[in-house]
Amino acid sequence: MSAPAPTIAAIATAPGRGGVGVIRLSGTHLLPLAQTLAGGKTPVPRTALYTDFSDAHGLPIDNGLLLYFAAPASFTGEDVIELQGHGGPVVMQMLLARCLELGARAAEPGEFTKRAFLNNKLDLAQAESVADLIDASSQSAARMALRSLKGAFSQHIHALVDELITLRMLVEATLDFPEEDIDFLEAADAKGKLKALQTQLHSVLASAEQGAILREGMNVVLVGAPNVGKSSLLNALAGDDIAIVTDIAGTTRDTVREQITLDGVPVHIIDTAGLRDTDDVVEKIGIERSHKAVQEADVALILIDPREGINAKTRAILQSLPAGLKKIEIHNKIDLSGEAAAMLSDGIQTASGADTLIKLSAKQHQGLDLLKQALLAEIGWQGESESLFLARSRHLNALHSAQVELENAALCSNTQIELLAEHLRLAQLSCSEITGEFSADDLLGVIFSRFCIGK
Ligand code: GDP
Ligand code: ZN
Repeated sequence: MSAPAPTIAAIATAPGRGGVGVIRLSGTHLLPLAQTLAGGKTPVPRTALYTDFSDAHGLPIDNGLLLYFAAPASFTGEDVIELQGHGGPVVMQMLLARCLELGARAAEPGEFTKRAFLNNKLDLAQAESVADLIDASSQSAARMALRSLKGAFSQHIHALVDELITLRMLVEATLDFPEEDIDFLEAADAKGKLKALQTQLHSVLASAEQGAILREGMNVVLVGAPNVGKSSLLNALAGDDIAIVTDIAGTTRDTVREQITLDGVPVHIIDTAGLRDTDDVVEKIGIERSHKAVQEADVALILIDPREGINAKTRAILQSLPAGLKKIEIHNKIDLSGEAAAMLSDGIQTASGADTLIKLSAKQHQGLDLLKQALLAEIGWQGESESLFLARSRHLNALHSAQVELENAALCSNTQIELLAEHLRLAQLSCSEITGEFSADDLLGVIFSRFCIGK
């Protein structure tokens, strides 16, 4: 038996003022603590108790609801108490201080979810989806995170692992009967089973890669000479997007960056006009952000006035772009020339070296849909479907490793049974890392430290 886990407490609601604020506690045998907080009243599990929350002298700090969840029927699998008080920062701090006084310690980020994982309430992929759901930046991403939280992704991984185990049992059985190995594996159609596994893994990986697009979103930078229409295009794209959120911290609109949603994919667009030298401190910070944005960009939109072509300044900016950055060339202001909006891509020659050319008018909102299509095509987005998983790069890496092991397994000849068995074992290990059946402690540390406190 390990020692009982220490009681942890945290404010679970977001900082600031709200109608209700929630403090969450998790630990072993918390009923006495709940009774003390409730001034002697005994809470019934899973039943709201309306009560004063008392301080050390029995005086009320606040009043509200106390919810008691007895182990193991709780989020963490331990005893859990939730105090729903008035959502002011001072009240919440006083309530939290009272919990600490009663023996709890402040929870680390993600510690509640980590305990849920350690107590087998969630597997690792599900635990991660808790954070993904909270961080979701589009409705599609939120829907997908919830599906993963409910175990959809994990089920696919478990199915893969089950198939792998079946095949490994078959292969390893032949190791014990070396004379019959080849016949035995052929009779059991080991190669056919391996092929089917590869197909199954391939389809999970494809869904995960699409989901990763939705999770990470797409970073787009606008590049071009002054007056070519960068700000106008940014505004046109943002103005078209009715789902845009303007009043949430971190999504405030400014003149150089917007976040829009294209077919559920969050798209961050940055106008790199900020990329000029300055001594102004505030502006300097903006410029550093812009440089970082270019380094992290997936796609660059290169705006050109077709009457002027690429000037020296734009050419210098183009040369400073990272080598792997995808490019779309845009000829703006077609309303002035009377040209029609168009998208050209097959075998075209562009001044910037981009493979796709869009002719549009930012001002008249002509050709914007073509641009949106082109953006989604650049990152290979195929549209949301029920089968996508909001995968993280950790998941993709593990699936890729498993894929390599299966490829190596397929290369094994009929006489390399031990090698075949080893590749299958490693493939299984990679898959199991996703759900956390085999994971190092430091990996857990990395994953949970990125959660917010109280989760
Ligand atoms: P930026 O310096 O690249 O950000 O360019 P702006 O967006 O500020 O635009 C410069 C000027 O070009 C402004 O007067 C815009 O109204 C104008 N402009 C931008 N896009 C269009 C367009 O599609 N058609 C026309 N006729 N004018 C445009
Ligand atoms: Zn501008």
